[in-house]
Amino acid sequence: MDRLIVESELSATLPKTLPQLVPSSACFRCDVCCRFPEADSFLRPYFTQQEIAAAVAQGVTTASFPSAAGSQINLVQNPMGEGYLCPAFDPATNHCGIYEARPVDCQLYPLALMWDAAQERVLLGWDAKCPFMRDAVPSTIAAHAERVTSLLAADPMIETIAANPRLIGRFQDDVVVLKELPTLTARLTALRVDARLRPLTGADAPRFARALAHVLSPEALAAYAFAYHYIWTSLLPYWWMESHDTFFLFAQSPDGFFMPLLPLGSEPLSQSAGEAFELMRQWNGPSPVSRIENVMEPQKQELERVGFRCTQKGGDYLYKADALAALAGDRYKSQRALCNRVEREQIVVIEPYCASDHVGCLALYDRWATRKQGGNLDSMGRFLLEDAKVAHGRVFAEHDRVGLSGTVARLHGEIVAYTFGYWLTPQTFCVLLEVADRSISGLAQFLFRETCRAAMKRGARYINAMDDADLAGLREAKLAYRPTAVLDNWVVMRR
Ligand code: SF4
Repeated sequence: MDRLIVESELSATLPKTLPQLVPSSACFRCDVCCRFPEADSFLRPYFTQQEIAAAVAQGVTTASFPSAAGSQINLVQNPMGEGYLCPAFDPATNHCGIYEARPVDCQLYPLALMWDAAQERVLLGWDAKCPFMRDAVPSTIAAHAERVTSLLAADPMIETIAANPRLIGRFQDDVVVLKELPTLTARLTALRVDARLRPLTGADAPRFARALAHVLSPEALAAYAFAYHYIWTSLLPYWWMESHDTFFLFAQSPDGFFMPLLPLGSEPLSQSAGEAFELMRQWNGPSPVSRIENVMEPQKQELERVGFRCTQKGGDYLYKADALAALAGDRYKSQRALCNRVEREQIVVIEPYCASDHVGCLALYDRWATRKQGGNLDSMGRFLLEDAKVAHGRVFAEHDRVGLSGTVARLHGEIVAYTFGYWLTPQTFCVLLEVADRSISGLAQFLFRETCRAAMKRGARYINAMDDADLAGLREAKLAYRPTAVLDNWVVMRR
């Protein structure tokens, strides 16, 4: 059933055929394609279940497929010479008899998906057995590979390949590697470790929200929200599975799997955490990467009692919404002065984010990041900025879908600041990200106050401003807003 859904999504979201690199005129002259030296050649095209149905509808016999659920096609003897042919191929005309319905495996050619020699990474390359490519590799090969890669990276396509892992061929040293495909590698690697793992996609938001109902309270950490994790899924594969009515979320770092959240469900925590660590032990071996992050104080005590080891990390800053909306009294003197200065000297317009703001926000992010890089960032800092840009881009594109609300600040029509946040509970609003033009003194403080005021009008009693990422400057700025609490946050490991 799952696969039917996936494949109907696939046809709805992908072009009917992948773009072609080799002109048809060259294919008609070719004497290599669709012909094979042995009956059981490993290069026989692979058809998915849906592709088999389409091929059969075009006249290929069902007997050509060892399994209707997906298989390589059975070849037939070449009636006009040596070797074997794909049964859909007409040697008299050099044409594919099912061209419009030929499988993705054939559409990709002369590109090919394969594992590297160590069977660890999925690669995209071009096949040097193709006579057209051997004569002269087109100058458009890199752009073509990029286009194909972006089509292959679409969720439905990834899931189709995951359901048909034989679409990834074995390593061939006459396939010239163009690039690695890390998303596909991660998906197939996860399947290898446990077939129950599913990639976290936007469609999982309601399921995630149901699981969270077990732990949410006004003092919950900001990490107990879908958007908090989802925006990073382009950079770090996230997986989920359900077992014994409990939801397990895993993130896959280059070192292995870890849990960015507690198991969520009705099962006793000591039991579900034990189950989670047993899974991570199977997948990661004895690596210390196996851990549960963002464990809150009550759950930490429960886990400590049954022998887990807990280490504290920086917690979220929690504020009273009315205090931040008013910024009254001496203790907020400096923040209030900065807001007043913006009101006095600038005509800043605050508006809800809308889709047409995407380009302006990205341009602001680039200006903001360039300025940061000018401040002697080390290479790690630069990587973080690049990663954050990908996450912000996902927020701009999918904010509605994942429950994020955004606000932009404009000066003379140009976007000079933006912020996005979400409701952790009906009383707690979390500020997930904020970018402001630093050349406008007080703008960040002004936007933050306006965000808190808007949240308060919609019922917020608390503002959660996330943690300080262990940055001294950020810690100082967050403490200056007088949090009512810095929420405990623990990392749990097995002793
Ligand atoms: S399906 Fe068509 S393109 Fe693919 S191998 Fe058979 S004849 Fe060739």
